Amino acid sequence: MARIKTIGILTSGGDAPGMNACIRAVTRTAIFNGMKVYGIYRGYEGLIKGEVEELTTESVSNTIQRGGTILRTARCKAFLTPEGRQEGYETLKRFGIDALIVVGGNGSLHGAQEFAAEHDIPIIGLPGTIDNDLYGTDFTIGYDTALNTIVECVDKIRDTATSHERIFFIEVMGRDAGFLAQNSAIASGAEAAIIPEDQTDVDQLAQFISHGIRKSKSSSIVLVSEARKNGVGGAMYYADRVRNEYPQYDVRVTILGHLQRGGRPSAFDRILASRMGYASIEALMEGQRNIMIGVSNDEIVYVPISRAVKKDKPIDKELISVLTVLST
Ligand code: ATP
Repeated sequence: MARIKTIGILTSGGDAPGMNACIRAVTRTAIFNGMKVYGIYRGYEGLIKGEVEELTTESVSNTIQRGGTILRTARCKAFLTPEGRQEGYETLKRFGIDALIVVGGNGSLHGAQEFAAEHDIPIIGLPGTIDNDLYGTDFTIGYDTALNTIVECVDKIRDTATSHERIFFIEVMGRDAGFLAQNSAIASGAEAAIIPEDQTDVDQLAQFISHGIRKSKSSSIVLVSEARKNGVGGAMYYADRVRNEYPQYDVRVTILGHLQRGGRPSAFDRILASRMGYASIEALMEGQRNIMIGVSNDEIVYVPISRAVKKDKPIDKELISVLTVLST
Protein backbone atom coordinates (compact mmCIF):
# COMPACT_ATOMS: atom_id res chain seq x y z
CA MET A 1 0.00 0.00 0.00
CA ALA A 2 1.34 3.46 -0.93
CA ARG A 3 2.37 5.65 1.98
CA ILE A 4 -0.29 8.12 3.05
CA LYS A 5 0.98 11.64 2.51
CA THR A 6 -2.08 13.86 2.79
CA ILE A 7 -5.07 13.46 5.04
CA GLY A 8 -8.38 15.28 5.29
CA ILE A 9 -10.39 15.70 8.47
CA LEU A 10 -14.02 16.74 8.89
CA THR A 11 -16.52 16.98 11.73
CA SER A 12 -20.10 16.02 10.93
CA GLY A 13 -23.57 15.77 12.47
CA GLY A 14 -24.18 17.31 15.87
CA ASP A 15 -21.20 19.10 17.38
CA ALA A 16 -19.75 17.70 20.58
CA PRO A 17 -17.36 19.19 23.14
CA GLY A 18 -13.91 17.74 22.51
CA MET A 19 -14.12 17.82 18.72
CA ASN A 20 -11.50 20.58 18.69
CA ALA A 21 -9.17 18.56 20.88
CA CYS A 22 -9.62 15.80 18.35
CA ILE A 23 -8.86 18.01 15.32
CA ARG A 24 -5.77 19.28 17.13
CA ALA A 25 -4.55 15.78 17.95
CA VAL A 26 -5.10 14.50 14.41
CA THR A 27 -3.41 17.53 12.88
CA ARG A 28 -0.37 17.51 15.12
CA THR A 29 0.15 13.75 14.99
CA ALA A 30 -0.13 13.75 11.20
CA ILE A 31 2.29 16.67 10.82
CA PHE A 32 4.68 15.04 13.30
CA ASN A 33 4.72 12.01 10.99
CA GLY A 34 5.42 14.08 7.90
CA MET A 35 1.89 14.29 6.50
CA LYS A 36 0.01 17.27 5.15
CA VAL A 37 -3.40 17.95 6.71
CA TYR A 38 -6.47 19.53 5.16
CA GLY A 39 -9.44 20.64 7.24
CA ILE A 40 -12.74 20.16 5.44
CA TYR A 41 -15.35 22.66 6.62
CA ARG A 42 -19.03 21.93 7.38
CA GLY A 43 -18.85 18.15 7.25
CA TYR A 44 -19.94 16.33 4.11
CA GLU A 45 -21.46 19.55 2.77
CA GLY A 46 -18.02 21.15 2.64
CA LEU A 47 -16.54 17.96 1.23
CA ILE A 48 -18.94 18.15 -1.70
CA LYS A 49 -18.48 21.89 -2.18
CA GLY A 50 -14.69 21.83 -1.80
CA GLU A 51 -14.50 23.98 1.36
CA VAL A 52 -11.00 22.84 2.19
CA GLU A 53 -8.10 24.60 3.91
CA GLU A 54 -4.71 23.40 5.05
CA LEU A 55 -4.31 22.97 8.81
CA THR A 56 -1.00 23.65 10.50
CA THR A 57 0.35 23.09 13.99
CA GLU A 58 -0.35 26.79 14.66
CA SER A 59 -3.87 26.83 13.25
CA VAL A 60 -5.01 24.37 15.92
CA SER A 61 -3.30 26.27 18.76
CA ASN A 62 -5.47 27.41 21.61
CA THR A 63 -8.39 25.18 20.63
CA ILE A 64 -8.20 22.23 23.04
CA GLN A 65 -10.29 24.06 25.64
CA ARG A 66 -12.98 25.30 23.24
CA GLY A 67 -16.39 23.66 22.76
CA GLY A 68 -18.02 23.31 19.33
CA THR A 69 -15.87 22.62 16.30
CA ILE A 70 -13.53 25.02 14.52
CA LEU A 71 -14.22 23.11 11.29
CA ARG A 72 -17.95 23.70 11.82
CA THR A 73 -20.39 20.94 11.06
CA ALA A 74 -23.50 20.31 9.00
CA ARG A 75 -26.12 17.81 8.08
CA CYS A 76 -25.94 17.15 4.36
CA LYS A 77 -28.76 15.64 2.30
CA ALA A 78 -26.69 15.39 -0.86
CA PHE A 79 -24.28 12.96 0.79
CA LEU A 80 -27.11 10.47 1.11
CA THR A 81 -26.94 9.98 -2.67
CA PRO A 82 -24.19 8.24 -4.70
CA GLU A 83 -23.96 11.38 -6.87
CA GLY A 84 -23.27 13.56 -3.84
CA ARG A 85 -20.65 11.15 -2.57
CA GLN A 86 -19.03 11.10 -6.03
CA GLU A 87 -18.70 14.89 -5.85
CA GLY A 88 -17.11 14.49 -2.42
CA TYR A 89 -14.62 12.05 -3.87
CA GLU A 90 -13.74 14.52 -6.64
CA THR A 91 -12.83 17.06 -3.95
CA LEU A 92 -10.49 14.58 -2.29
CA LYS A 93 -8.80 13.86 -5.61
CA ARG A 94 -8.49 17.57 -6.38
CA PHE A 95 -6.61 18.20 -3.14
CA GLY A 96 -4.60 14.97 -3.33
CA ILE A 97 -6.12 13.69 -0.10
CA ASP A 98 -5.15 10.01 0.42
CA ALA A 99 -7.12 9.27 3.58
CA LEU A 100 -10.04 10.75 5.47
CA ILE A 101 -10.74 11.13 9.18
CA VAL A 102 -14.44 11.55 10.01
CA VAL A 103 -15.40 12.78 13.47
CA GLY A 104 -19.09 12.34 14.17
CA GLY A 105 -21.93 10.23 15.44
CA ASN A 106 -23.86 7.28 14.12
CA GLY A 107 -25.16 9.01 10.99
CA SER A 108 -21.78 10.46 10.07
CA LEU A 109 -20.11 7.08 10.36
CA HIS A 110 -22.90 5.52 8.30
CA GLY A 111 -22.03 8.07 5.64
CA ALA A 112 -18.35 7.15 5.95
CA GLN A 113 -19.22 3.51 5.46
CA GLU A 114 -21.23 4.22 2.29
CA PHE A 115 -18.44 6.42 0.99
CA ALA A 116 -15.76 3.79 1.60
CA ALA A 117 -17.86 1.13 -0.10
CA GLU A 118 -18.01 3.18 -3.30
CA HIS A 119 -14.60 4.83 -3.41
CA ASP A 120 -11.06 3.71 -2.81
CA ILE A 121 -10.25 5.88 0.18
CA PRO A 122 -9.08 4.71 3.61
CA ILE A 123 -11.35 6.18 6.28
CA ILE A 124 -10.89 6.25 10.01
CA GLY A 125 -13.91 7.21 12.10
CA LEU A 126 -13.71 8.94 15.46
CA PRO A 127 -16.76 8.76 17.73
CA GLY A 128 -17.72 12.41 18.27
CA THR A 129 -21.19 12.64 19.77
CA ILE A 130 -22.68 13.47 23.14
CA ASP A 131 -25.07 10.51 22.79
CA ASN A 132 -22.51 7.76 23.56
CA ASP A 133 -24.47 5.52 21.22
CA LEU A 134 -21.71 4.00 19.10
CA TYR A 135 -21.12 0.29 19.49
CA GLY A 136 -17.60 -0.87 20.37
CA THR A 137 -16.46 2.09 22.44
CA ASP A 138 -17.10 2.62 26.14
CA PHE A 139 -17.20 6.38 25.61
CA THR A 140 -17.70 8.83 22.77
CA ILE A 141 -16.07 12.24 22.64
CA GLY A 142 -18.37 14.84 24.21
CA TYR A 143 -20.46 12.50 26.32
CA ASP A 144 -18.66 13.18 29.60
CA THR A 145 -18.91 16.96 29.19
CA ALA A 146 -22.62 16.77 28.33
CA LEU A 147 -23.22 14.53 31.32
CA ASN A 148 -21.55 17.05 33.62
CA THR A 149 -23.52 19.91 32.10
CA ILE A 150 -26.77 18.06 32.67
CA VAL A 151 -25.89 17.23 36.28
CA GLU A 152 -25.09 20.87 36.99
CA CYS A 153 -28.49 21.89 35.62
CA VAL A 154 -30.34 19.19 37.54
CA ASP A 155 -28.69 20.30 40.78
CA LYS A 156 -30.09 23.77 40.18
CA ILE A 157 -33.55 22.48 39.33
CA ARG A 158 -33.49 20.38 42.50
CA ASP A 159 -33.20 23.55 44.60
CA THR A 160 -36.36 25.02 43.18
CA ALA A 161 -38.21 21.69 42.96
CA THR A 162 -37.65 21.09 46.68
CA SER A 163 -39.07 24.47 47.57
CA HIS A 164 -42.34 23.75 45.77
CA GLU A 165 -42.97 20.00 46.17
CA ARG A 166 -43.24 19.25 42.51
CA ILE A 167 -42.44 16.50 40.05
CA PHE A 168 -39.98 17.71 37.46
CA PHE A 169 -39.56 15.91 34.17
CA ILE A 170 -36.21 16.93 32.71
CA GLU A 171 -35.65 16.01 29.11
CA VAL A 172 -32.15 15.31 27.89
CA MET A 173 -30.64 14.43 24.53
CA GLY A 174 -29.40 10.99 23.49
CA ARG A 175 -31.28 10.23 20.29
CA ASP A 176 -32.40 6.63 20.69
CA ALA A 177 -29.99 5.94 23.53
CA GLY A 178 -30.54 6.44 27.26
CA PHE A 179 -26.94 6.81 28.46
CA LEU A 180 -27.24 10.53 29.20
CA ALA A 181 -30.59 10.16 30.98
CA GLN A 182 -29.65 7.09 33.02
CA ASN A 183 -26.25 8.26 34.18
CA SER A 184 -27.24 11.85 34.83
CA ALA A 185 -30.10 10.49 36.95
CA ILE A 186 -27.65 8.47 39.03
CA ALA A 187 -25.19 11.36 39.32
CA SER A 188 -27.79 13.92 40.32
CA GLY A 189 -29.67 11.72 42.77
CA ALA A 190 -32.83 11.83 40.65
CA GLU A 191 -35.78 9.64 41.51
CA ALA A 192 -36.05 7.91 38.13
CA ALA A 193 -34.99 7.82 34.51
CA ILE A 194 -37.19 6.97 31.57
CA ILE A 195 -35.02 5.61 28.78
CA PRO A 196 -35.72 3.92 25.44
CA GLU A 197 -33.75 0.78 26.34
CA ASP A 198 -36.08 0.05 29.24
CA GLN A 199 -39.35 0.47 27.37
CA THR A 200 -40.45 -3.10 27.18
CA ASP A 201 -43.88 -4.07 28.42
CA VAL A 202 -43.37 -2.24 31.69
CA ASP A 203 -44.93 1.19 31.97
CA GLN A 204 -42.05 3.14 33.47
CA LEU A 205 -44.25 6.06 34.45
CA ALA A 206 -46.74 3.93 36.37
CA GLN A 207 -43.84 2.16 38.03
CA PHE A 208 -42.28 5.44 39.09
CA ILE A 209 -45.57 6.80 40.42
CA SER A 210 -46.34 3.67 42.43
CA HIS A 211 -42.84 3.00 43.79
CA GLY A 212 -40.90 6.19 43.33
CA ILE A 213 -42.88 8.90 45.05
CA ARG A 214 -42.50 8.66 48.77
CA LYS A 215 -44.34 10.98 51.10
CA SER A 216 -41.11 11.92 52.83
CA LYS A 217 -39.67 13.28 49.61
CA SER A 218 -40.41 16.90 48.98
CA SER A 219 -39.65 16.75 45.27
CA SER A 220 -39.21 14.23 42.51
CA ILE A 221 -36.95 14.56 39.52
CA VAL A 222 -37.26 12.25 36.55
CA LEU A 223 -34.71 12.32 33.72
CA VAL A 224 -36.37 11.54 30.40
CA SER A 225 -34.70 10.70 27.10
CA GLU A 226 -35.79 12.91 24.22
CA ALA A 227 -38.80 11.89 22.13
CA ARG A 228 -38.27 8.87 20.00
CA LYS A 229 -38.85 8.90 16.28
CA ASN A 230 -42.41 7.53 16.59
CA GLY A 231 -43.33 10.51 18.77
CA VAL A 232 -43.72 8.48 21.96
CA GLY A 233 -41.57 9.65 24.82
CA GLY A 234 -40.03 12.94 25.80
CA ALA A 235 -40.76 14.95 28.93
CA MET A 236 -43.95 16.58 27.57
CA TYR A 237 -45.50 13.22 26.85
CA TYR A 238 -44.97 11.96 30.39
CA ALA A 239 -45.97 15.24 32.01
CA ASP A 240 -49.25 15.22 30.07
CA ARG A 241 -49.87 11.69 31.17
CA VAL A 242 -49.37 12.61 34.82
CA ARG A 243 -51.71 15.59 34.47
CA ASN A 244 -54.39 13.30 33.03
CA GLU A 245 -53.86 10.16 35.06
CA TYR A 246 -52.58 11.50 38.38
CA PRO A 247 -54.00 15.04 38.68
CA GLN A 248 -53.04 15.23 42.37
CA TYR A 249 -49.41 15.92 41.39
CA ASP A 250 -48.01 19.31 40.43
CA VAL A 251 -45.86 18.73 37.36
CA ARG A 252 -43.23 20.82 35.59
CA VAL A 253 -41.16 20.19 32.48
CA THR A 254 -37.66 21.38 31.63
CA ILE A 255 -36.16 20.61 28.25
CA LEU A 256 -32.43 21.20 28.49
CA GLY A 257 -31.97 21.39 24.71
CA HIS A 258 -28.83 22.65 23.06
CA LEU A 259 -27.07 23.87 26.16
CA GLN A 260 -26.12 20.20 26.57
CA ARG A 261 -23.92 20.45 23.49
CA GLY A 262 -22.00 23.55 24.46
CA GLY A 263 -19.28 24.45 26.91
CA ARG A 264 -15.64 23.74 27.54
CA PRO A 265 -14.83 20.06 27.21
CA SER A 266 -14.09 18.24 30.44
CA ALA A 267 -10.56 16.98 31.10
CA PHE A 268 -11.85 13.47 30.41
CA ASP A 269 -13.10 14.44 26.95
CA ARG A 270 -9.93 16.36 26.10
CA ILE A 271 -7.79 13.36 27.00
CA LEU A 272 -10.09 10.91 25.21
CA ALA A 273 -10.13 13.08 22.08
CA SER A 274 -6.34 13.49 22.18
CA ARG A 275 -5.77 9.76 22.54
CA MET A 276 -8.24 8.90 19.81
CA GLY A 277 -6.96 11.55 17.41
CA TYR A 278 -3.40 10.30 17.91
CA ALA A 279 -4.55 6.69 17.46
CA SER A 280 -6.31 7.50 14.19
CA ILE A 281 -3.03 8.48 12.54
CA GLU A 282 -1.18 5.53 14.05
CA ALA A 283 -3.91 3.26 12.64
CA LEU A 284 -3.56 4.78 9.17
CA MET A 285 0.19 4.26 9.28
CA GLU A 286 -0.39 0.62 10.22
CA GLY A 287 -2.49 0.25 7.08
CA GLN A 288 -5.87 0.15 8.82
CA ARG A 289 -8.92 1.41 6.95
CA ASN A 290 -12.63 1.67 7.53
CA ILE A 291 -12.43 1.33 11.25
CA MET A 292 -13.60 3.48 14.12
CA ILE A 293 -11.24 4.19 16.98
CA GLY A 294 -12.86 3.19 20.25
CA VAL A 295 -11.83 2.86 23.86
CA SER A 296 -12.56 -0.28 25.83
CA ASN A 297 -11.39 -0.86 29.41
CA ASP A 298 -9.24 2.25 28.96
CA GLU A 299 -7.43 0.79 25.95
CA ILE A 300 -7.64 2.00 22.39
CA VAL A 301 -9.42 -0.50 20.15
CA TYR A 302 -10.22 -0.70 16.44
CA VAL A 303 -13.85 -1.39 15.57
CA PRO A 304 -15.00 -1.97 11.98
CA ILE A 305 -17.21 1.00 11.11
CA SER A 306 -19.87 -1.41 9.87
CA ARG A 307 -20.09 -2.89 13.38
CA ALA A 308 -19.92 0.44 15.21
CA VAL A 309 -23.02 1.74 13.40
CA LYS A 310 -25.06 -1.41 12.98
CA LYS A 311 -25.28 -2.82 16.47
CA ASP A 312 -27.29 -1.22 19.24
CA LYS A 313 -24.97 -0.40 22.10
CA PRO A 314 -26.48 -2.04 25.17
CA ILE A 315 -26.94 -0.11 28.37
CA ASP A 316 -25.57 -1.88 31.43
CA LYS A 317 -28.63 -3.23 33.26
CA GLU A 318 -26.79 -2.77 36.52
CA LEU A 319 -27.10 0.99 36.04
CA ILE A 320 -30.87 0.59 36.09
CA SER A 321 -30.69 -1.37 39.35
CA VAL A 322 -28.30 1.17 40.88
CA LEU A 323 -30.74 4.00 40.25
CA THR A 324 -33.76 2.00 41.40
CA VAL A 325 -32.12 1.02 44.67
CA LEU A 326 -30.48 4.35 45.44
CA SER A 327 -33.61 6.39 44.75
CA THR A 328 -35.81 4.45 47.18
P1 ATP B 1 -25.30 13.13 16.28
O1 ATP B 1 -25.12 11.76 16.93
O2 ATP B 1 -24.65 14.17 17.09
O3 ATP B 1 -26.70 13.44 15.89
P2 ATP B 1 -24.68 12.16 13.64
O4 ATP B 1 -23.38 11.97 13.00
O5 ATP B 1 -25.43 10.90 14.02
O6 ATP B 1 -24.45 13.08 14.90
P3 ATP B 1 -26.58 12.72 11.51
O7 ATP B 1 -27.36 13.96 11.25
O8 ATP B 1 -27.34 11.47 11.72
O9 ATP B 1 -25.61 13.08 12.72
O10 ATP B 1 -25.59 12.47 10.27
C1 ATP B 1 -24.74 13.48 9.80
C2 ATP B 1 -24.63 13.43 8.31
O11 ATP B 1 -24.08 12.16 7.89
C3 ATP B 1 -25.94 13.50 7.54
O12 ATP B 1 -26.39 14.82 7.39
C4 ATP B 1 -25.56 12.91 6.19
O13 ATP B 1 -24.88 13.85 5.41
C5 ATP B 1 -24.57 11.81 6.60
N1 ATP B 1 -25.25 10.51 6.65
C6 ATP B 1 -26.02 10.02 7.62
N2 ATP B 1 -26.50 8.78 7.32
C7 ATP B 1 -26.01 8.50 6.08
C8 ATP B 1 -26.12 7.39 5.18
N3 ATP B 1 -26.83 6.31 5.49
N4 ATP B 1 -25.47 7.47 4.00
C9 ATP B 1 -24.73 8.55 3.67
N5 ATP B 1 -24.59 9.62 4.47
C10 ATP B 1 -25.20 9.61 5.66
